[in-house]
Amino acid sequence: MEQLLDDLQQVMDGAFQPSHPGAIAHLDPPPLSASIAADLICAGLNNNLLAEELSPSLSHLERQLCAWFAERIGFPAGSSGVAASGGTLSNLIALVAARHHAGLDHTPDAVVVVSADAHVSWHKAARVMGLQNDAVREIPVDGQGRIDLQQLEDELTALSREGRPCIAVVATAGTTVRGAIDPVSALADLCSRLGRWLHVDGAIGAVFALSPTSTHLLDGIARADSITVNPQKVLGITKTSSLLLVRNPSVLAEAFSTGLPYMEPALEHDHGGELGLQGSRPAEVLKLWLGLRQLGESGIEQVLSAAIARREYLQQQLDPNRLMILSGPLHVLACRPQRGQAQQHESWSIETRRLLLSQGIMVSRPLHQGRHHLKAVLGNPHTHDGLLDQLASALNQSVEVRP
Ligand SMILES: *Cc1c(COP(=O)(O)O)cnc(C)c1O
Repeated sequence: MEQLLDDLQQVMDGAFQPSHPGAIAHLDPPPLSASIAADLICAGLNNNLLAEELSPSLSHLERQLCAWFAERIGFPAGSSGVAASGGTLSNLIALVAARHHAGLDHTPDAVVVVSADAHVSWHKAARVMGLQNDAVREIPVDGQGRIDLQQLEDELTALSREGRPCIAVVATAGTTVRGAIDPVSALADLCSRLGRWLHVDGAIGAVFALSPTSTHLLDGIARADSITVNPQKVLGITKTSSLLLVRNPSVLAEAFSTGLPYMEPALEHDHGGELGLQGSRPAEVLKLWLGLRQLGESGIEQVLSAAIARREYLQQQLDPNRLMILSGPLHVLACRPQRGQAQQHESWSIETRRLLLSQGIMVSRPLHQGRHHLKAVLGNPHTHDGLLDQLASALNQSVEVRP
């Protein structure tokens, strides 16, 4: 036992520490205590969301929680969803369901239209689905990192002309590098006019619809056909925690149901294993439910608005004469020097990141539009203003201003 504990300690000592106040590099906030406890309980229960008989109460809880999220986001009553182990999987499930719904299962030249700042998971989805190399059509973004509507419309017209079917248009609500939100309402108008499936990849941003102070940022989200929500990324639900919500409750079972011949029929709804790609899976919904209960409505609002406030506070202190700042309305901010070539930005990013690490601050170093940036995600409630002051002054000082 002693040896085991020693070995365990070594692993723990070498772990990334999301609860450190300086852990602001990624979308991995400190875990909520209720969520940690729920993970343990979930393991102890060892239920299986594959089928109702293996998780009677937890299957029910998952449906209830999907319905709660759907309703809070503004979907019509009766819409549904499924939990998945991460946003990559939620996006893939959405795209497979949209393809099936459009009758394009056997059409390998079909495409999905996203913005240039959309998440890399769309490329994975296209590969898994056997689509062609050019299947992920990336539309340029405007100066705020939002999809360019005119170019999107032009692309959709060009695709129709070429006879390339479109599985879905993706609106990203919270892009990975700067937290930009595509104009969801305008995209919904366009998609309903052209009869296209609209998926909102809200892995970062969709939870902000839960808070009265930020829900306006997601205007139009309720008009989507499907939405990816990742409570693991901002709210502190232990990994993994992702939901795929769908407006039309039958699309998931239509795409994935196999009949599960070795299970008793589900009593009211479909088995969890009939609604997505995963078969056996843990009751991840328990830690989401308990985490949300720990926060309560006011706690959720507090976590989300404090994250945005920290980003605003940092942004105010950065010198725009020295730094080009890329941000959006959420809690994510990236920057790079105003001047210089890509190679100089790369060495600047390496050196500055190292300097910050030596001060106990961990930022990330995304390569974006061909240039290295430093990125801060301000979702860590332990990050205090003093640390942000220190970060801002290090960033400002890392870049010389020419007289
Ligand atoms: C993180 C992210 C994903 C993928 O989520 P995982 O849980 O890491 O699989 C998808 N889309 C966006 C916009 C993301 O930021």
